[in-house]
Amino acid sequence: MALRLDTPVQFLKGVGPRRAEQFARLAVHTVENLLYHTPHRYLDATSVTPIARVTVGQEVTLVGRVVSKGVLPTRKRLRIFRAILKDETGVIECAWPGQAFLDRAIEVGQLLLVTGPVKYYHGRQIAPREQIVLEEADSTDSADSTVTGGRVIPIYPATEGLSHRVVRRILADNLDPMLDAVDDVVPPAVQRAAGVVSLCRALELVHRPPAAATPPAPPPGDWEQGRRRLAFDELFDLQLVVARARYLATHATRGQQFENRRQLTTALKDALPFELTAGQKRATREIIADMTSAKRMHRLLMGDVGAGKTVVALFAMLLAVENDGQAVLMAPTELLAEQHAATLSRLLAPLGLVPDLLIGRLSNGEKRAVRARIASGETRLVVGTHALIEETTAFQRLGLVVIDEQHRFGVEQRAALIDKGEAPEVLLLSATPIPRTLALTLYGDLDISELRDKPPGRSDVKTGVRSSRSRARIYQFLRDECAAGRQAYVVYPVIDESEQLDLKAATRMAGELAKTLAPATVGLVHGRMKADERDLVMRRFRDREIGVLVATTVIEVGIDVPNATVMVIEHPERFGLAQLHQLRGRVGRGADESHCILLTDNVTAAQRLKTFAGETDGFRIAELDLKERGMGELAGARQSGGITLRYTNLEMDGDLVGVAQREARALLAADPTLGRRDHAGLRKRIERRYERGVELFRVG
Ligand code: ADP
Ligand code: MG
Repeated sequence: MALRLDTPVQFLKGVGPRRAEQFARLAVHTVENLLYHTPHRYLDATSVTPIARVTVGQEVTLVGRVVSKGVLPTRKRLRIFRAILKDETGVIECAWPGQAFLDRAIEVGQLLLVTGPVKYYHGRQIAPREQIVLEEADSTDSADSTVTGGRVIPIYPATEGLSHRVVRRILADNLDPMLDAVDDVVPPAVQRAAGVVSLCRALELVHRPPAAATPPAPPPGDWEQGRRRLAFDELFDLQLVVARARYLATHATRGQQFENRRQLTTALKDALPFELTAGQKRATREIIADMTSAKRMHRLLMGDVGAGKTVVALFAMLLAVENDGQAVLMAPTELLAEQHAATLSRLLAPLGLVPDLLIGRLSNGEKRAVRARIASGETRLVVGTHALIEETTAFQRLGLVVIDEQHRFGVEQRAALIDKGEAPEVLLLSATPIPRTLALTLYGDLDISELRDKPPGRSDVKTGVRSSRSRARIYQFLRDECAAGRQAYVVYPVIDESEQLDLKAATRMAGELAKTLAPATVGLVHGRMKADERDLVMRRFRDREIGVLVATTVIEVGIDVPNATVMVIEHPERFGLAQLHQLRGRVGRGADESHCILLTDNVTAAQRLKTFAGETDGFRIAELDLKERGMGELAGARQSGGITLRYTNLEMDGDLVGVAQREARALLAADPTLGRRDHAGLRKRIERRYERGVELFRVG
């Protein structure tokens, strides 16, 4: 029976129901899944050190046969498992303190791979961090017997009961018929433009990397060519989705064409109590150009917290209003919406304009009145929350939709608001700056404006890394700040809200601080609280009834309390750099000098945190963040609906992003719906991979 991509793995040679169950634990169900179950590392002569060349102080990977082994009790009752490994160049001792159980797994005769630091203890000794059995003692297949002979061995992600060796054997035994099932859906011309190998070749290179002709193999290995093709596919599919969304958003429906009448916008410019920054001016120009063209605006405005996005959005709103349209600004929380309404009211006062506010906590009567004003067109400017999306909200003539913290809304929510107008212009705001390559990848359907400069007169938040030895002094500092009438945040990481332990720790911490910091009042917010409870605490903090707010990361996109001048972050090493930057953005919003204190005893994290402490530009931090994460999970992946690029390394594959975008746009220009027969395979693959992706990018 010929294999198909959707054939269950159970029908492969060497796989039965039990193995299939184990594969399921690795999310491998079909032939296609298994083809994409790719090695997470490779072993070759360049990565393996011959035992004779192992020197003390190095971190090495070596491969050798177990010639003897045993458990050695020590005086301190610590049981050490030891094994002697031998390759053709020599022997070396490995020691695993406290891991006597390995005695059951590691046998004399096995071929073992170990990675770890080399120490000196009666001779050279390795303390392995990782060990992999490459070959059993009684193995008849000698394929693995030497890596140093130029062979390259793929190492697969494994699971309990399904070792990487079994995965490798099953792939080796079935690879050819599996590859026959591969259908290369990317048009050959596109592959040529990208300079990548065929899909079949790529998968073969990845799973069966050829031996280097002359060891050591010159890096990068051949599998790298395979990886690049898989990366290109990822990027190309993504760009097709994105280009499609862009097409739908900007061409399929004509936008409203506004005129730059220079009435309200000019009045605002004249009335502003400050000068716009160069970045704000440029962004405003870009937005006005979009809105006054026949093309529909579909733009993302990115800038750090405090960069001044609201004012820019306000110019866009006024342009819509002076063209007899209505403009709406939607924010993810009531507090934020209230804040925006207050800011707009202040800025608009000289113009005699008052925005309306529509949020859930208004009384039914109030809501009804606001909705009536919106429907009649009496209200030209509205700020609100999800309440705006409700069916009972109807606009007279919606010209512009602005969505703040756009990633906090689901696709349907954004669409629901946008659909309340006839092809209104769309402006999305984001306080999470991301690097260009990433923006092109994730938001290729949007035009992007960046605010990289800060309004003048804003001092940077003073950031420092401290150990728990300074804890008492830090608490004193918090007391002093509170006594001086200022406020503080103490952030405690609860990475996973289901982590009861972390949550308990945060709660306990709040209790202790309440005692230590008295008479300052201490409040607690966390992700497990109901939205309205959380809102209440936040409100009390805003109104200065609470002096110190202990919080899990829920304050990330919370509120603007200019009076808060200190942020203490516990276990900062648990956060990504971009996340730390987001948190830090909660202070330094007023005139007073602000401080961010990273409290950690983790010395290995200190350097990274010091780098962060010295950097204030959110875009540069975003680049560092991306570098840190490297391949795999994207910086913005969570916010954008879980798109992960498994094979792409944006640092190495920046060129592929550009090609993918260009080719995807060209392909869609010729065949906007991917309806052509020769594109059917491509379309199917995208539907399979991006079930939600297509939806995701429809309205940005
Ligand atoms: P964000 O980008 O976080 O939304 P805001 O638009 O809320 O930032 O602006 C933060 C504060 O800075 C507001 O009080 C706003 O009035 C003020 N602001 C904006 N632009 C300028 C500027 N060019 N000069 C001085 N202050 C500004
Ligand atoms: Mg804002």
